[in-house]
Order: sequence, then C-alpha cells, then structure tokens
Amino acid sequence: MKKGKFLILLPVMLFLLFAAFPANAAESAEISVETNTTAVAGGEFSVEIRASKNPGFTKLSLGLTHDQKYLTLVGVEPSERLLDMGAVFTLDKSTSKLPYPITIESSEEITGKNIVLFTATFKLSSSASLGSYKVGCSSIKMTGSDKKSISVTSKEGGVMIECEHKYSLIIDEVAPTCEDKGMTTYKCTECSVVNTVFTPALGHKYKETSRVPATCTEHGKIIEKCSTCGNVKTTSFGEPLGHSYDITTVIPSTCSAKGYTLHKCIRCDDEYKDSYTDFSDHTYTKKVMEEPTCYSEGYMRFTCTVCGNVRTEKMDKVDHNFRATMTKEPTHTERGWTAYECIFCGETKKDAFTDIVPYDLENIVVLEPTCTTDGLCRITCRDGCGYYTEQVLPATGHSYSDWHTDVSATAEKSGLKSRVCRLCKHEETEEIPPLGNSASVAALSPSQMVSAVLIATIVSITLVLVVVVFARSIKGPTRRRPVRR
Ligand SMILES: [Zn+2]
Ligand SMILES: [Zn+2]
Ligand SMILES: [Zn+2]
Ligand SMILES: [Zn+2]
Ligand SMILES: [Zn+2]
Ligand SMILES: [Zn+2]
Ligand SMILES: [Zn+2]
Repeated sequence: MKKGKFLILLPVMLFLLFAAFPANAAESAEISVETNTTAVAGGEFSVEIRASKNPGFTKLSLGLTHDQKYLTLVGVEPSERLLDMGAVFTLDKSTSKLPYPITIESSEEITGKNIVLFTATFKLSSSASLGSYKVGCSSIKMTGSDKKSISVTSKEGGVMIECEHKYSLIIDEVAPTCEDKGMTTYKCTECSVVNTVFTPALGHKYKETSRVPATCTEHGKIIEKCSTCGNVKTTSFGEPLGHSYDITTVIPSTCSAKGYTLHKCIRCDDEYKDSYTDFSDHTYTKKVMEEPTCYSEGYMRFTCTVCGNVRTEKMDKVDHNFRATMTKEPTHTERGWTAYECIFCGETKKDAFTDIVPYDLENIVVLEPTCTTDGLCRITCRDGCGYYTEQVLPATGHSYSDWHTDVSATAEKSGLKSRVCRLCKHEETEEIPPLGNSASVAALSPSQMVSAVLIATIVSITLVLVVVVFARSIKGPTRRRPVRR
C-alpha cells in the first residue's frame, strides 16, 4: 500500500472501527500492579493486583512477569472479595514455562472498579542491589458474561529495594534530661542516610525538702527538689487558716484625727479598723497677748499643742488697779483713811477707813470737896494729845450722926437736941418744942407753918443756882466734851 492512500484511508478506518465497536471501546479493562512497595534485599514483599478498570468479567487469565534473576514468586492469595463471591482461583506452577498462568473464574460476573483481585508475594534475592524491580502482567485474557473477549491493557508496578540501614555510626548525641528528650543521630554505614532516634525525657526525681504550713490566706506548701536537676516543685496541702483578729488596740482620737479600734491578725500583718470615735477637743495653751486694763479690753491667744490650731478670745476690762498713795491715821475726832490711785487711769478714792481713837482719860482730883466747899478734878488724855478739862466736885454736905437730945422737952418747956458731922465736927443744935397735949407735927402753929415753907423755898432756889453754876463750869475753858470710855 502506498503511503498516500494509507493517509487517506486512516480516518475512514478509525471511523469504521469506532462505528463497529462503540460499546466495547468504553468497556476495555485495565489490570495494574501496585507500585510504591519497598523491600530489602533477601526479604519478601507483596504487591496487590487490581482491576483498575473493570467492565465486568467472568474469566481472567494472566501471567506475572518479573526479573527472574532476583525475584522469585512465592505465592498468590485471592482477595476476600473474590473468595466471598466463590470465584475459583488457580496458580499453575506445573508448567516449566514461566510465567505461571493464573486463572480467575466466577459463575457470577465480577464487577466493581479498582477492586483487588489477588496479592502476589515475592522473595528478593539477597544479592539484589538497591533500586527498583518491575512486576507486570502478560498474556491477559478477559471474558465477559456474554463469553465475549474484553480488551485489556495493563500497568506495571513493582518494588523498590531499599538499604537495610546499619546505623552503627553515631554522628550526634544529646542525652535526655529530666524535661527534655534525648536525641541520637546515626548514620548508615551502607548508604549514608542519617537517622535520629529520640529517647524520652527522664522525668524529675523529686524529694521533699521543706514544708511551709498554711497561713491565713494561703494553703500549706510542700516544696520538693529534683535530685537530678535541682528543679523545685511546690504543691499545696491543707486549707488557709483565715485571719484571727485577736490583737485589739484602741487608738484614742486626737483633735485632728478620729480614734478607732485596730484589729490585727495574730499571724500576719492584716488589720482592719472599726468603732471610730469622734475628734477630741484641742489641747490649748493660752498666752495673754494684750493685758486688759480698766479702760481697754485685752485678748488671749489659744494655741493647740497637738495640731497648732489657733483661736483668740477677748478679755473683759478689769477693775481699776488701785495702789495706796497715802494713809491718814485716825484721831480722837476723825476716822483714819487710805488714799488710792488707779495705776492705769489715775482715778482716786478714799478707803480703808479706821475707827476714831477713843480718849484715854485720866481724872486727877486737884482739890477734894469738903462738906461745904467744892472740889476740883482735872481731866487729861494719857496719850499726850493735849486734851485738858476741869470738873467741879460739888461740896458733899455734912454727914451728921443721929440726933442727940441734950435737954429733954417737957409739956410746957422746949428741949434741945444736937448732932455732929462725922467729917468736919460741925455741930448743929435744934430746939425740941414742948410736948403739950399732942406732940404731933400736924399741931404746928400757923406761924411755924409759914417759917417752914419759907425755909424750903430758899433751899430749893439755892440748889437750882448751884446746879446752873456747875453746868457752866463744865463747858468752860476747852469747849471739849469729855468722852466716856
Ligand atoms: Zn543504608
Ligand atoms: Zn529534674
Ligand atoms: Zn492573718
Ligand atoms: Zn488640736
Ligand atoms: Zn483705772
Ligand atoms: Zn488724847
Ligand atoms: Zn461736915
């Protein structure tokens, strides 16, 4: 066939191909072998064989191709799904010609996409070097439930032989601590791959070192120390005790601060105040800033010694401040007194009167009175003041004895009687009238009666005159009245 004709016919043939098998084109199957499996030389590995595209079949036969020098098929194992379906699975190792044919037959159509058909296990030769070894499928024949053959494609899989590392070379090492993991980095002597192995942290080994008892507000504490690293751990125990405000102090108030009662906890410094008392009075000291006088007010300044508060107070005017300037002594006729003058304003007064001094009189009889003549008494004051007066001492009159009858009277004749003054011996005689019939005085004759009245009148006038003369003599020379003590 010439090249030109072929190029013209190709699209026509493709068209006829798709036109003749429109359904089969979509229903082709694909069998794939698992990739990414790893193994080590001398070990075994398994790969899954799947129907990665599955239009539904009842019979499948294939062979497994692989590098026969290093890989040896150990066995195959049908999947659970196929076993459940009662499918018959055969591996015919009787033929000498490799690969061994593997057959799956089922009375029921095997459906499902990407289903596992079976697992094939291989042994790797110990001399297999590192790298990948392929496993594929060949001579695949698939038949549908309609006995028609289904076109099948396949995908290779395989195994990767990895180094069976020999990490005998340590290139880095960090020992674990109480809290941090340890780390050892090895290097494979075969392939130089490094591997880091961690060792868990050791954990602290705590031992109690001390115990702090609970306080008012905090729990008790147990303090433990790690014997390895010295780390300190604190755990609590017990309940806080609460404050005991048993120390009570009464703080008295001052003029600038209120008083209160302070309650202090016996264990800690916590405290509170209550029972407040009011401010107390100021403690003033007073100072007279200006003395009051009798004509002006003064004032005082009060200063509190505690807080310094200051207040002033007026001082009332005072009484005159009298000072004695002169004292007049009393006399017999005038009272004494003291003169005063106010030292501030000069006002004067007389005060402190003293009583009149009485005379201290002395009577000196300079002429004794007799029975018939007056005497004289001189009166002077003993204190030498010069007082002088005289007093007439009147005549005493005779002091007669009883009458003595010298001649007794008879009835017809007169008798005579006499008496003598005991002091001056003056003798007085008197006639005793005759006794008559009646000796009574009432029997006096009318002439005798006239004589008696006359004598009595003369004696009375004489007495009055004497008294007047005496009174004048007392008022006489000094005009001073004698004062009785
Ligand atoms: Zn290695
Ligand atoms: Zn520790
Ligand atoms: Zn407390
Ligand atoms: Zn004060
Ligand atoms: Zn005055
Ligand atoms: Zn005198
Ligand atoms: Zn006489």
